[in-house]
Amino acid sequence: MSESPSILVVGAGPTGLTAAVELARRGLLARIVDRNEGPTPLSKAVGIAPHSLELLEPSGATGRLLAKGLRIPCGHIYFAGQELGVVRFSTLQHRFNFLLSLPQSETEGVLAEVLAGLGGTVERHTALTELREAGDRVEVVLQGPGGREEASYDMVYGADGAHSRVRDSLGLGFEGYTHDRTWSIADAEIADWPYEAGTAQLFLQRGGNVGFIIPIGPDRFRAVSNTEDALARIPGDYRVTRVLRSDSFRIPVRQAPRYQTARVFLGGDAAHVHSPVGARGMNLGIEDAAAFARRFAEDDLAGYTAERHPVGRRWIAASERALAAVQATHPAAVALRNLALWTLGHLPPLQRPLLARAAGLRS
Ligand SMILES: Cc1cc2nc3c(=O)[nH]c(=O)nc-3n(C[C@H](O)[C@H](O)[C@H](O)COP(=O)(O)OP(=O)(O)OC[C@H]3O[C@@H](n4cnc5c(N)ncnc54)[C@H](O)[C@@H]3O)c2cc1C
Repeated sequence: MSESPSILVVGAGPTGLTAAVELARRGLLARIVDRNEGPTPLSKAVGIAPHSLELLEPSGATGRLLAKGLRIPCGHIYFAGQELGVVRFSTLQHRFNFLLSLPQSETEGVLAEVLAGLGGTVERHTALTELREAGDRVEVVLQGPGGREEASYDMVYGADGAHSRVRDSLGLGFEGYTHDRTWSIADAEIADWPYEAGTAQLFLQRGGNVGFIIPIGPDRFRAVSNTEDALARIPGDYRVTRVLRSDSFRIPVRQAPRYQTARVFLGGDAAHVHSPVGARGMNLGIEDAAAFARRFAEDDLAGYTAERHPVGRRWIAASERALAAVQATHPAAVALRNLALWTLGHLPPLQRPLLARAAGLRS
């Protein structure tokens, strides 16, 4: 182990934790730091895709995630009160033929536990403040509980989110835009749920408004909407007994032009951000990190950007198209979208290629 290159992973969100776990199971204990005190307290990703479960299986993380999460077999799509169709993950010809629903905080908790089992620990309250490449080393400054620390590493993996200090220190751009519309998100306990238990519901409404709701635990749900009050966009005769958390956000759409320099690599939201429609953000980050660790082990890091950048670019384009479709207002566009969804919803074989893409099984 002493001969191994030294690697610093910046950020212990899903991407950084996956990188540390995937390196550790191959025998390399990276140092991993995060400026926060623990897993995210925010309502963020909830859907773990089949390909992420595949990638996390060798470390033992998948078994733990499956034990905690809810297996969502399908999603019902409605327009103006009428059901257009059902999208069935269960039609995927794969052993993980469902979307695993688990709040991001719990996913991060599981990954941190698996890392601990492999001998790694997240150093909390420790922020990267400066980074520069100097010859064959990467010099960094960290600010932690013990004060300012200067250190140098063979490599750095930047998984420090959308406002990445690592990316900015390298002078890499983050081209794109942020949508004007403010979205809302709420986690709530709900009684007398009137829809099929254990499934997701997407409500498309006239005027381009949309509400989405997915179970995250017993009588617990997460609602998301492109309006101010996510729960208000979920029709039906049910009772909200407790709102656990609510928040609002705008959707950034950005991508770094490349994911690596000589010795520094980017993954997850540090490299790409896009709309949550399609639930791919966290999953793309898990895939980036797994690819980084695999390529590190194969001594083939030169191809990291070439492998991962097109996947991010394609998904950004696909999620923008999906976002425009769900928010459509023009009557012709609405009619065409609804016809497409009705056809898709009633012909499961047509769903498979789309679902395989959303599942990360096809790029
Ligand atoms: C409302 C919402 C809903 C979403 N829903 C979904 C969904 O259903 N499915 C899905 O796949 N994705 C979803 N996403 C996206 C998903 O949450 C992100 O893609 C995911 O969090 C990215 O993980 P990451 O590890 O790359 O970055 P982050 O989760 O942002 O983690 C970055 C980490 O780096 C740390 N950090 C930052 N700067 C520094 C520094 N200078 N030094 C040290 N540490 C630092 C932070 O504390 C943080 O822990 C959603 C996002 C939002 C906002």
